[in-house]
Amino acid sequence: MGGRGSGRRPSYAGKDTTEDSLPLDIRRPQRAGVLAPGRICRWRWTVNDHVRASIQIRADVWQVVLTYAYTAHQQPAERIRQTVMLETTPCTLGGRRWWFRCPTCARRVAVIYGAGRLFACRQCKQLAYGSQSENADDRASRRADRLRKQLGWEPGILNGPGGRPKGMHLQIYARLSAEHDALVEVMLHGMAKRLGMLNGRLSEIRRQINGEP
Ligand SMILES: [Zn+2]
Repeated sequence: MGGRGSGRRPSYAGKDTTEDSLPLDIRRPQRAGVLAPGRICRWRWTVNDHVRASIQIRADVWQVVLTYAYTAHQQPAERIRQTVMLETTPCTLGGRRWWFRCPTCARRVAVIYGAGRLFACRQCKQLAYGSQSENADDRASRRADRLRKQLGWEPGILNGPGGRPKGMHLQIYARLSAEHDALVEVMLHGMAKRLGMLNGRLSEIRRQINGEP
């Protein structure tokens, strides 16, 4: 998938994990309103504000067409168009929940992964590990940001703690910030696992986040 006009980096057979791949979680384009028939948008994956890869998503009735340039190792870029079917299920509290049909196995999934030439579900891509920890991290990250909002702190745990907001009861502050710190720990462990960090490096980052010298 072409990042900044270049083809996406090649995948390495047998070594893919969900972290190496490009996850496309339907809840994100759905929330962004991109799944409305007729909409065309460019969807980007970024790492530290750098575009790692991007694809075009064209929404149609009950399907999306993904268009991107794929470059296998030392091969010329290939333009790929992949159609992925959509469907919805009713939510218990009203509204509908959107799903992809995996283009390979037709299973109903929330996330398809760009790993190799085409997008498919995690099972079809045989992605080694990480989906569960990734989801746990995503959840922790969202919860942490909700707490940060309540605390009036800038979103993103890397921005560190912001102190007790004016007028917030001390006990409430202690509870929210303790909950936040616990989530930070969860996320740091997830990150450390993925990056294969050593414990020393982890404590260094923990100190930085906690604003300790
Ligand atoms: Zn599949």
